[in-house]
Amino acid sequence: MATPDKKNEAMERPPIVVVMGHVDHGKTTLIDYIRKSNLVAKEAGGITQSIGGYEIEHSGKKITFIDTPGHQAFTKMRSRGATTADLAILVVAADEGVKPQTAEAIKILTESKTPFVVALTKMDRPGADIDRAKNELTTNGVLLEGYGGNVSFQPISAKTGEGVDELLDFLLLAAELENLTYDPNAQASGYVLEAKRDKNRGLEVAVILKNGTLKRGQKISVGKIGGKIKMLENFLGKAANDLRPSSPAMIIGFDDLPAIGEEFIAGDDVELEASAGQASASRSTNLANHSPFVTEEEKGITLILKAENSGSLEALTATIQSLTTHKPLMVKSASVGEVYDGDVQLAVSTGSLIIAFHVKINTAAKRLAETHKVKILESDIIYKLLEELEKLAADTTPPPEGDLEILAVFNQMEPEKQVVGGKVVEGTLKNKRAFEIVRGETVIGKGRITNLQHNKADADQVPVGKECGLMINSETMIKVGDHLVVRIS
Ligand code: GDP
Repeated sequence: MATPDKKNEAMERPPIVVVMGHVDHGKTTLIDYIRKSNLVAKEAGGITQSIGGYEIEHSGKKITFIDTPGHQAFTKMRSRGATTADLAILVVAADEGVKPQTAEAIKILTESKTPFVVALTKMDRPGADIDRAKNELTTNGVLLEGYGGNVSFQPISAKTGEGVDELLDFLLLAAELENLTYDPNAQASGYVLEAKRDKNRGLEVAVILKNGTLKRGQKISVGKIGGKIKMLENFLGKAANDLRPSSPAMIIGFDDLPAIGEEFIAGDDVELEASAGQASASRSTNLANHSPFVTEEEKGITLILKAENSGSLEALTATIQSLTTHKPLMVKSASVGEVYDGDVQLAVSTGSLIIAFHVKINTAAKRLAETHKVKILESDIIYKLLEELEKLAADTTPPPEGDLEILAVFNQMEPEKQVVGGKVVEGTLKNKRAFEIVRGETVIGKGRITNLQHNKADADQVPVGKECGLMINSETMIKVGDHLVVRIS
């Protein structure tokens, strides 16, 4: 192996691995199993808390695992055009097969050209079906070894540990092909994994080093945020004077909380980014000006983001920023803490949607949101929020003038004089209007209202929430459950 006695010498470094896959498919269990069973024994008891990554040794070689949720970490990296992880494990539960987040992970890995190995987990479960999982992977573009491709796969159980050693062998093989190196004399650089404020120790920033040598006393910078490394700790929380790639490191000495996923540089003569409005500027207050993907003039969906801490807020923000949606997304504000009435008021005045990631909505906020019909997307799972948001942002049709759900069909002797009853579920239903007939998701016909009645009297219009009877003229026979949708022409 090379020694660091010459300038610009490439030295081998361990692979940095991220674990991705669908929620509940066993990512955390696998990460925990690997950590517990592969740490050098005397160190194993030393881990008190996660700093977002850890090292293991397998067959005499080191591997660094990122143990933050892979999805967030990766999406952010993708949006920056750089990847923290060198390799990934794609976890697929053998009893469930490919699910939406699996497909999303495959997309991210393919687009970022990140090599990965597949772990078919939960093999100890009775419903495990390797063949189905393999077929679904193939359908989703993952070309497995022996099936026309070169992606390794390994059936495992993170409960019993079966197959995990073989999985790690595959990882080391994949790492060898990547020829991962670093230059000990280069400027230290890497990525921010986690950032939080500790009551006693102040700002704690966990990073992962990808090049150079990180040393106590060096200056460090993440965009416009700077600091000096006053304390440097390894992933076991032990003080260190210097660390080499691909080590995770805890740093104390930042002047402010940097954003997760940002690149850091460290050295004796590091300078801060001078210009205002850089993408890497702190995003904890108002994001509208920093948002690279939208201008204020564009009509889109404006968002108010809430998350439980700055780390998850950054992850949420970054993930949203990396979405490509039909309607542009604009972040009005992003802050830490529960959703309170002030957030809802802001949503009312700016016409925004609130996204609550792993936070409570206080009672006053709930009441206000109901009164003003402010939409709050709420979930503990980032993926679910994104899915909802993507749905909203994909919808390009304007709201209808009126939408009536058919509750009863009274007379269908003549198609041009069908007598039906229903409830206005959106907007206002106006007499004499032309409508589309929607059955399920499909428009199956059209027609016109010839007479509208509310409370047994003729009416010009019937508002949302009210029931009405009507005579319609249509070639299509209306059924209970259909919707008559009037579009504004
Ligand atoms: P994550 O959301 O992908 O991190 O999933 P978790 O690691 O939290 O696992 C979800 C559930 O599956 C938990 O109840 C685990 O105990 C269980 N689980 C994970 N891996 C295995 C496995 O290999 N075998 C069995 N039987 N259960 C597993």
